[in-house]
Amino acid sequence: MSLKIRRGLIKSVLVTAGPTRERIDPVRFISNYSTGTFGYEIAREARARGCAVTLVSGPAHLKPPAGVKFVAVETAEEMKRAVLKNKADCVIMAAAVCDWRIKNPSDTKIKKDGKRRLLELAENPDILKELGRKKRGVLVGFALETGELEKNALKKLKEKNLDIIVANRLGKEKKLFGSNAIDIFILDHKGEREYHRNKDKAELAKIILDKVLNVNI
Ligand code: C5P
Repeated sequence: MSLKIRRGLIKSVLVTAGPTRERIDPVRFISNYSTGTFGYEIAREARARGCAVTLVSGPAHLKPPAGVKFVAVETAEEMKRAVLKNKADCVIMAAAVCDWRIKNPSDTKIKKDGKRRLLELAENPDILKELGRKKRGVLVGFALETGELEKNALKKLKEKNLDIIVANRLGKEKKLFGSNAIDIFILDHKGEREYHRNKDKAELAKIILDKVLNVNI
């Protein structure tokens, strides 16, 4: 459903946040550096604006905002199940979902034996892309890029059938994960673009929700 049709009608929001963890064995995993800060700020802001908010979060050392329904998950597969179960008017996928999982995780702790070890990876489902395929609400994606920010953001917006994409660059000089002041680029399905520089994530959460909820596109 397009933003035009849903104008002013977003009452429930599902936000995903944090990394996912993909198990190697019962004590080890692969993951990424996401802290979850951005998603938690967005969930907090959506709640402050009166929305019913579900926050589906991978492992993050953050306190869930008050008044938010909190669903803790670990793997991409668990996140997918939690997201697809929910029927929110708007889904904001701020999570850094692992693109791969371990193909054959071990049920017991793997012992070192002096031999070479290879981890075989299987691709995880793209949750956002699945949501885009059976689109029923407003869909917001995130893109973290190391280059060609605008080109890649546009590609993802189209490929995943999104209404809005929020893109940021992981530069050599700049720490992004966990750092508070960042630059972002917001692109919507009508081609409107906005740049915001050196703003903290709480401020950016407001800007993103202005765009999503008050919909001036
Ligand atoms: O394609 P890329 O991983 O850069 O896309 C990022 C966006 O897609 C984010 O909004 C992220 O939450 C979402 N995503 C997803 N499932 C994946 C990978 C990414 O929903 N397996």
